[in-house]
Amino acid sequence: MIAKKRIAVTGGAGFLGSHLCEKLLEQGHEVLCIDNFFTGSKQNILHLLNNPLFELIRHDVTFPLYIEVDEIYNLACPASPIHYQFDPVQTTKTSVHGAINMLGLAKRIKAKIFQASTSEVYGDPQVHPQPESYWGHVNPNGIRACYDEGKRCAETLFFDYHRQHRLKIKIARIFNTYGPRMNLDDGRVVSNFIVQALQGEPITVYGDGSQSRSFCYVDDLIEAFIQLMESEDGFTGPVNVGNPNEFTILELAEMVVRQTGSKSKVIFKELPADDPHQRRPDISLARENLGWEPKISLATGLRPTIAYFKHLLDR
Ligand code: NAD
Ligand code: UDP
Ligand code: UDP
Repeated sequence: MIAKKRIAVTGGAGFLGSHLCEKLLEQGHEVLCIDNFFTGSKQNILHLLNNPLFELIRHDVTFPLYIEVDEIYNLACPASPIHYQFDPVQTTKTSVHGAINMLGLAKRIKAKIFQASTSEVYGDPQVHPQPESYWGHVNPNGIRACYDEGKRCAETLFFDYHRQHRLKIKIARIFNTYGPRMNLDDGRVVSNFIVQALQGEPITVYGDGSQSRSFCYVDDLIEAFIQLMESEDGFTGPVNVGNPNEFTILELAEMVVRQTGSKSKVIFKELPADDPHQRRPDISLARENLGWEPKISLATGLRPTIAYFKHLLDR
């Protein structure tokens, strides 16, 4: 029997956050979803609103928050380049001021706190695949920096609160994840390609499509979050969580066209600045410390994702 806890999830109305809230409720915990609905939506959590163990708080984490919980999952932050570049100053504030507020909260109430960090802390990596020991290759003033540097600073804050105030921290470095409840206009590659393929529109490959990413299905990722939160206190991470199966963007485009049975053709567009050329997690640390590894292949995970977008577009 798992002990029942009160758990806060910031960014709980977003793609990953809504899946996490759902899973924690399934386990019988009480969940406080904290979100300002910048990229998240009520639609993502509509099915949870009637659950008496679920509570929704509209709040921006850049402002202080006074609640009482046992654990905090800090996921609040836009994750797609078009959204985090829309108001880059607010993006950095969300990561940095948001981390300070959530860490201050965790310190006052002695809660364990989890940070949704990112593979973007590795920037355009010169080491491949990326182990946690790699310090990264980030442009500090480019158009992606508001996100990358904000997340790097959040990691710094987590470790300083851990060393200075003895906080129990858990840091996950999340690699590209996809699945149902991604925003239709999210701008990330998996949702873009699926929506384009389903609508018979050209598939927009940026650059020549030789850049790579390693795509993890959301269910696998959420399992890793919970296992990390429940791991022994001595294990803080940072730990890579993602699927090490690597694909070029062109391979992904072909797979989506095949699985949707679409007649869409690939077109090539300009590669955005600072776009990483390659990305694949070394997940040895997660395997050893959490006994975790992803189980769902890209071909398998694309099916429910395509079905989700088809349903949205049909409505
Ligand atoms: P998302 O955009 O769907 O969710 C982010 C949520 O945070 C949204 O509900 C949004 O409204 C909320 N939010 C944003 N700013 C906020 C603020 N100031 N105060 C309160 N709420 C705020 O993105 P996602 O894919 O679910 O990402 C969740 C977390 O995981 C993010 O921290 C992201 O950086 C991290 N992450 C995601 C991926 C991925 O592939 N999905 C990869 C690496 C890291
Ligand atoms: N904070 C919060 N909720 C709390 C406790 C603190 O939002 O329950 C915020 C508060 O705004 C503070 C920040 O967290 O500025 C950092 O708190 P900490 O105690 O580390 O620093 P201090 O209050 O000394 O600035
Ligand atoms: N990409 C693309 N077409 C699109 C959207 C993205 O070719 O319509 C590329 C993008 O340039 C990047 C990769 O796909 O090389 C992954 O982009 P995404 O925004 O999903 O995530 P991130 O770059 O943050 O890993």
